[in-house]
Amino acid sequence: MAQISKSKLGTFKTCPLKYKYQYIDKIEVEKAEQLTRGIDLHEIFCEFYNKFSVDDITDPERQFTEIFMPCKSDHKQDIMNFIKFEVKRWQSCSEKAIFKPLFRELKIVDTEAQITGIIDRVDFDGKNFILLDYKTGKYNASKLYEYRFELALYVYLLERYDSFKTKVNYWGIIFTNANVFWCEPVKREEIDKAIAKVEKYRALIAEAERTGEFKQSRSPLCQWCEYKERCMNALQ
Ligand code: SF4
Repeated sequence: MAQISKSKLGTFKTCPLKYKYQYIDKIEVEKAEQLTRGIDLHEIFCEFYNKFSVDDITDPERQFTEIFMPCKSDHKQDIMNFIKFEVKRWQSCSEKAIFKPLFRELKIVDTEAQITGIIDRVDFDGKNFILLDYKTGKYNASKLYEYRFELALYVYLLERYDSFKTKVNYWGIIFTNANVFWCEPVKREEIDKAIAKVEKYRALIAEAERTGEFKQSRSPLCQWCEYKERCMNALQ
């Protein structure tokens, strides 16, 4: 049984041929600009908490802003919104010792379930565990259903993770470009649905691997596909 992740599943769902290029043939391509931007920002946010001690914070807005000064100017909007979010959280945080997230960019490889995932962060507010994801692209409220799938998968992994193994109370997303924070109590039924979806796609992927049939699935998303040229050439 092969390891599956949210990204692998999403790629196969979008286009089986793209999945083959990326995960079976492992063809290296230059990452799309949007993806590089997202990776950069995730690293910047993850590193932020290594750059200060909570005991030294007296003026969070100024001090947090100073930490980000060397960062690229094209990330400015996301960073400003991130600072606003963290300043607000600092002000409402009753115990500063728990201000820093419990986990950041936590990679979990669940060898029993054969599922892998990277969790952006897990916060603890003194009472609740909150699993959070960063989205650096455009905010689209109609995609929240899709996001629940990945959040449910991460909660599943985290609750089975040896260094955690407790219940997550909330999940949410920080949309850094749009300055939107969305959070809700964990919906347990979504976790069962997510696992069923993983198993469905695991079977479809296994079948495609067995038959060698990875169909092209053309859609408007093709315009951003890193394998576009290769795919077009394969058609000729
Ligand atoms: S260009 Fe479209 S059809 Fe071709 S591999 Fe990429 S996503 Fe699939």
